[in-house]
Amino acid sequence: MKIGTELYRKTLLTVSGNPLVEKLTLRYGKSLARKFIAASDLEGAIEEVKKLNSKGIMATLDHLGEGITKLDQALSYRNEYIRLIKAIAESRVEANVSLKPTQMGLALDKEIGYEHIRAVVREAKYHRNFVRIDMEDSPYTDATLEIVWKLHKEQLTNVGTVIQAYLYRSEQDVEDCIDQGIPLRLVKGAYKESSSIAYQNTKDVLWQYKRIIQMHLDHHVYTAIASHDDKIIRWTKQYALEHDIPKDRFEFQMLYGLRMQDQVKLAEEGYRVRCYVPYGTMWYPYYTRRLAEKPANLMMVLKNMGR
Ligand code: FAD
Repeated sequence: MKIGTELYRKTLLTVSGNPLVEKLTLRYGKSLARKFIAASDLEGAIEEVKKLNSKGIMATLDHLGEGITKLDQALSYRNEYIRLIKAIAESRVEANVSLKPTQMGLALDKEIGYEHIRAVVREAKYHRNFVRIDMEDSPYTDATLEIVWKLHKEQLTNVGTVIQAYLYRSEQDVEDCIDQGIPLRLVKGAYKESSSIAYQNTKDVLWQYKRIIQMHLDHHVYTAIASHDDKIIRWTKQYALEHDIPKDRFEFQMLYGLRMQDQVKLAEEGYRVRCYVPYGTMWYPYYTRRLAEKPANLMMVLKNMGR
C-alpha cells in the first residue's frame, strides 16, 4: 500500500515518542544515524567543517540536545556552546552556531532559558559570530520569538531565528521579524502540528514557503532558505535572477549528510551555501525527524534490523 507522504510523516513523528521504538532505533539505527551526524565530539565536528569550508561551504554547528528534563543539563549545554564558539574562533573555520531553546531550559524555566541563551549570544558577539535559535514545535513559537526580540532590544543583534512555512501564523511572523530586523532562516517545518494551526497539505506548505521567501527577498533583507527541495531552490534562483537580487543577499542551507553533491554544486555556481552540522551523542530526536522526512530512510533502518 502506498502511504501518502504527509500521513507517513505524521505517523512516524507520533510513533517516535514510543519508548520501544526509541529503544529499537537506538540499538539498530546508530550506524545509519552517522550519515546525518558529523561527529560525536566538538573536535571531530570542527574537522568536518574544515572539509566543508575547503569546498566553499559554510557551516552552522549544532550541539545535539533538546527537551531536557533537569536545569543543570541546560547549564552544561550553555557551557558546551561557549566552548564551541571559542573553538570556532580559534580554528578560524567559517561557521556560526544553531541551538535549540528547550536545550537551554526554555520548557522548564523561561527566565533561566533566556539567561543561558543570552550568555551564548554574548560570547558569540565577543567573537563576532552569530547564533541561530532553531524553531521547535508550536508550544515554543511565541517564547522563542520573544527571546530573540528581547535580545535585539538589548543590542544583541547577532542572533536570529527560524520561521516554519507550515504554520498559518508565519506570514505575520515574517512581517514582524522584518520590521524588527531579526535575521531569519526559512524552512517548511519539521514537527507534527495540528490542522488548527498548520497546513497539512504539501501544496499549501509549498505555497506559503514561496510566499515568505518572496516577502523576505522583496524587503532586501539577507535571507536563509533551508531546504533540499529542488522546486524551492530552482524557484529561488529564478526569482533572484528576475528581480536583480545578487547572490550575496541570500544563502541556501542544507543538512549535513543530505544532498552533499548539490551543496558543492551550488557553491561552485557562486551561491552562498551553509551546511547544518550536528554533533554529539543525543541524536535520537534529530534523527527521527530526518526519518520522518523520507520513507527510504526508515526502510534502511528496518533492513538493518533484519541483519
Ligand atoms: P522535502 O520535500 O522534505 O525534501 C525534498 C527532497 O530532499 C526529498 O525528496 C529528498 O530527496 C531530500 N530529503 C529531504 N529530507 C530528507 C531526509 N531526511 N533524508 C533523505 N533525503 C531527504 N525545521 C524546523 O521545524 N525548525 C528548524 O529550526 C529547522 N532548521 C533547519 C535547518 C536546515 C539547514 C534545514 C535544511 C532544515 C531545517 N528544518 C527545520 C527542517 C525543515 O523544516 C524540513 O523538515 C526539512 O528541510 C525537509 O523539507 P525540505 O524543504 O528539505 O523538502
